[in-house]
Amino acid sequence: MNKIVITLPDGTHKKIDSGSTGYDIAKSIGEGLLRDSIAIKSNHQIIDLHYPLTEDSDIEIITSKSAAAHDILLHSTAHLLAQAIKENYPSAKIAIGPALKETFYYDIDLDIPMNDDSLQQLEKTMKKISKENLQVHRKELTKADALTMFKGMNEDYKVEIISEIETADLITTYQQGDFIDLCRGPHIPSTGKTKHFKLLSIAGAYWRGDENNKMLQRIYGTAWFTKDDLNDYLYRLEEAKKRDHRKIGRELEIFVFDDEIGPGLPLWLPNGGIMIEELEQLAKETERNDDYQRVRTPHLTKGELYEKSGHLEHYHETMFPAMNIDGIDYYVKPMNCPHHHKIFAASPKSYRDLPYRLAEYGTCYRYEKSGQLFGLMRVRSMQMNDAHIYCTEEQFKDEFIKVCNMYLYYFKIFNIEKYEMRLSLHSKGGLGKKYFNEPKLWKKTENSVREALNEAKLNFVEVEDEAAFYGPKIDIQVWSAIGREFTLATNQVDFVVPRQFDLNYIDENNKKKTPLCIHRAPLSTHERFIGFLIEHFGGDFPLWLAPKQVVILPVSQKHFDYALDIKDLYFKNNIRVNVDQRNEKIGAKIRDAELTKIPIMLIVGDKELENNSVSVRRRHKGNIGESEYKEFMINIKSEINKRSI
Ligand SMILES: [Zn+2]
Ligand SMILES: [Zn+2]
Repeated sequence: MNKIVITLPDGTHKKIDSGSTGYDIAKSIGEGLLRDSIAIKSNHQIIDLHYPLTEDSDIEIITSKSAAAHDILLHSTAHLLAQAIKENYPSAKIAIGPALKETFYYDIDLDIPMNDDSLQQLEKTMKKISKENLQVHRKELTKADALTMFKGMNEDYKVEIISEIETADLITTYQQGDFIDLCRGPHIPSTGKTKHFKLLSIAGAYWRGDENNKMLQRIYGTAWFTKDDLNDYLYRLEEAKKRDHRKIGRELEIFVFDDEIGPGLPLWLPNGGIMIEELEQLAKETERNDDYQRVRTPHLTKGELYEKSGHLEHYHETMFPAMNIDGIDYYVKPMNCPHHHKIFAASPKSYRDLPYRLAEYGTCYRYEKSGQLFGLMRVRSMQMNDAHIYCTEEQFKDEFIKVCNMYLYYFKIFNIEKYEMRLSLHSKGGLGKKYFNEPKLWKKTENSVREALNEAKLNFVEVEDEAAFYGPKIDIQVWSAIGREFTLATNQVDFVVPRQFDLNYIDENNKKKTPLCIHRAPLSTHERFIGFLIEHFGGDFPLWLAPKQVVILPVSQKHFDYALDIKDLYFKNNIRVNVDQRNEKIGAKIRDAELTKIPIMLIVGDKELENNSVSVRRRHKGNIGESEYKEFMINIKSEINKRSI
């Protein structure tokens, strides 16, 4: 028998029979490993545990602890679902069933509408198939054979997919029991490997996302390797539902959408207006400390400017169509950058003027397809915490580190504990297409960003082929208090556009030079950031940010005047305060204040009136006792000014 040499992750070599599988290798290492093994990585490619190895290779057993294993589990559970569907509804036609981040789905064509009961029934069947621990077999066949087979099974969608495959390679199928699916794999070795799953929801989805096609039923589910992980995920899902910014945004009267205004165009209600003011105040203070200057720019601009900036060429799909005025095309602006460039160019600059930092909460309009719109997270009008920093090459690193530190400062204020910077680089293949064709400049700028991040001791990962068209960018991912991931903001370096705008400064030697430009927006857009904050805090905003800060609850009518006196004083001191003057019992007033998540309730009755005091109730802390009302005001003013969390 032929022998091959495999190299294990620890570097040891082993001679094994050609045709051995990951299963054989895992078994030879130990029963424990075998029990936990899901697939095998051979020469950097993940393949089935039962795939015969026929050449020398570096191998690694993929166990449930490997990150790659979760994908395999999710997708394999989608097969399990499809098998259960065919068992319960033999007439159903199955379409596709991919794995998503923590979930999977399967699209099916079935005339019977699914409901919660059908999901329960399907789950029961899935549990049964899992218990049967059916072996999962991979099979290779020609395109013609595959077509004949799936035609025979009346699987129209699979037939359509196969007919479109243009390959001389063999087509692969996976079979467990009598269920066969078209699939590239890899898969779990047997159905018993997936035990902890749950079907989550049903939605409609057009075949191939095209509204001219038939609407299919999409069943979502999740799967995990342990019961604890499954429960943890379901808990996070429940919390996320409770914290959905669209739900809380409505309940707390922060924003609304109106059909007559248009999709993706939010209306900020007074409570949202307050939050926006607070965020802008924070940004203004922070930017002032770092020597930014504030500017204002119009919402409409001639197409000429966007030709120069490259937006019309590279960004056209996300721009609203032009409106023609006096024979000239005007656009609503998708970005503020070109306007700031024009402000830089409005007067001659010397090296003494640099770094030149321009800031604006600029309003932009972007065309997002209606199917892409999502609450405040994806909108068509937005106000961005924008700024552009023009600097020399020598100043670049320091400026960049300063920007990073501003992010960290904000993270602290908003109690964002988990974040990651993702440095997006260009790709060689994209030069001249997706990216400006300046290979040397790309390398140089990417290196200085990398150095700056290292010097600032920031954690970051690098991803290729995700840069902006004019330079590398850093995407900032943050995780909310319940572990949901958001892409908040980007930070970009631009070495191309300043040249196109002929931006320049006179250096120490009286020579004309082109500055670099840093684009940054640490507080993102108001839309996305407030959407994030709502979910992060679950609507329980810190005192300084809460639209309503204090409510005074008089026990009865005879305490109204006293309550109003306190209100006047607090109001004059810029505290957002109301008095509940309804003739309700105090218990009812407390309950209603709880519902609107007001951070502080001040209860005033006979005792308080006599003592010049208030009885304080703080959200999530309950009663914290009686306090002299002026003294209490000084305390909360300091809490507000410090922007305490
Ligand atoms: Zn598959
Ligand atoms: Zn910009």
